[in-house]
Amino acid sequence: MTLTGNMLIGQSLVAGDDREIRAINPFSNETLEPAYPGATKTQVDEAAALANAAFASYRETTPEQRAVFLETIASEIMDLGDILIERGQQETGLPQGRLVGERGRTVNQLRLFATVVREGAWHGARIDHAKPERTPMPRADIRLRHIPLGPVAVFGASNFPLAFSVAGGDTASALAAGAPVIVKGHSAHPGTSELVARAIASAIKKCELHEGVFSLIFGFDYAVGQQLAAHPYIKAVGFTGSRSGGVALMQTAAARPEPIPVYAEMSSVNPVFLLPEALKQRGSVIAREFVASLVGSAGQLCTNPGLVIGLESPELDAFVDTAKTELAASQSTTMLTPGIHEAYVKGVEALTQLSSVKVEAQGQIAEGCNQCQAVLLSTTAAAFIEAPHQLGAEVFGACSMVVRCTDTEEMLALTSVLEGQLTATLQMEAADDNQLIRSLISSLELKAGRVLANGFPTGVEVGHAMVHGGPFPPLPTVAVPRWEAAPSSVIYVRSRIKTFLTTIYPWRYRTKTPGMCPSV
Ligand code: NAP
Repeated sequence: MTLTGNMLIGQSLVAGDDREIRAINPFSNETLEPAYPGATKTQVDEAAALANAAFASYRETTPEQRAVFLETIASEIMDLGDILIERGQQETGLPQGRLVGERGRTVNQLRLFATVVREGAWHGARIDHAKPERTPMPRADIRLRHIPLGPVAVFGASNFPLAFSVAGGDTASALAAGAPVIVKGHSAHPGTSELVARAIASAIKKCELHEGVFSLIFGFDYAVGQQLAAHPYIKAVGFTGSRSGGVALMQTAAARPEPIPVYAEMSSVNPVFLLPEALKQRGSVIAREFVASLVGSAGQLCTNPGLVIGLESPELDAFVDTAKTELAASQSTTMLTPGIHEAYVKGVEALTQLSSVKVEAQGQIAEGCNQCQAVLLSTTAAAFIEAPHQLGAEVFGACSMVVRCTDTEEMLALTSVLEGQLTATLQMEAADDNQLIRSLISSLELKAGRVLANGFPTGVEVGHAMVHGGPFPPLPTVAVPRWEAAPSSVIYVRSRIKTFLTTIYPWRYRTKTPGMCPSV
């Protein structure tokens, strides 16, 4: 399959009429062919009108039809073969094994959504049966279920060119719900996006669906994405990416005459708490595992452990010493794009210039473009509490900060100034202070989507109990906390609107009154 440099509006490969974007090979900083001209305002309108036209028939497809469609997309993606992995490597610098694994995750997500659609609980059907004999007023039969909102605009992130991109979780979720999708392709991986979009288009044809169920457009600058979020035919946005991007789209969506929801997964620093007894019993093991988790994928993971919090003690010093040795020996890795590399260097520089921050260790740096040199910093809890937004901001890459607390009170005070997180981790042992553990969890369960015990946050299992979101900025939606049993390392999950599988979004409730609802 040859790349065309085109967008896909419905079934048509369309050349954009605006300025072009080109992928850059991060290994060499060379631009890659072909160029991808961006969409004009008229072309965005065309894609939106097509999605709007498709909604009426697509929302009425049966669960079985939508499940087969999702499974067909998965097969079509696999049928693309090596070209997808090769192009993905050229555009992102990610290793082959990682991309093969990510492709597996992407098709499994699609297939799991197919099982969820068939199973049907996502309808959230509720029925209050009629009580004609009730006095003084009889009750009507009242029925409620979830229905799709309408066309959804999807924005993927650079660090997951498959699983959080064109056919990623957001697209799978929207298509499963019965909502047409327009993807604004990421400028870092347009070729990978074109290939996946063509696989989806092929599935649409095979399943005989309306062509407007899916489109892919590109944009030279943010105007195209902004136009999409503001477009009257778009009824929700799914976003994975930076905080600045997500917040900009949320503001646009909120300022519309008809505001729409933005399901945004943005930044996180994923604090890891080191409790004294855990440090005593296995401090050096934790240090080695922490550095491995930090430097993997050049730290370009939203679940990267960017903050490590412990109590001042000889054990914490020993932990830092081992982490320094490990990190100093770590090899540099190519980052995703020159822009992300530049932002990483600037972010590290900004932190190291602060008088409250000490550089503990830096990793190796190899020759070559866009190398991520890992860095371990440290500060005090007092300094962190004074400037939590400055010291707790995500530096996307292999940068982490150790925070030293003088006592448990300071540790708890620090948790209260943390922003919302995807994850929070406790390294703890049975002999650790149970009251402290309880207090930490009680605070962290309000701060993080997922709380882990004795694990590391990188690596996400795609399954029904997994939550990959959290309070703002990871995911600004309503939180409904609930305790669960303690399988493996995950001791707690939060039930949220946008999880991988348990709930399909976007939806809204529709109630029906007697005579209007033949079936639920
Ligand atoms: P990004 O720069 O925000 O890009 C994401 C998408 O949003 C791109 O399509 C981008 O357009 C668009 N965009 C950015 N700013 C915009 C604006 N102001 N208006 C309209 N569109 C805008 O994010 P990234 O660098 O690709 O991804 C890295 C970030 O994603 C990290 O912060 C990481 O933590 C986060 N992430 C989070 C999760 C999660 O929470 N679950 C998962 C993965 C990654 P262009 O293509 O034109 O740049």
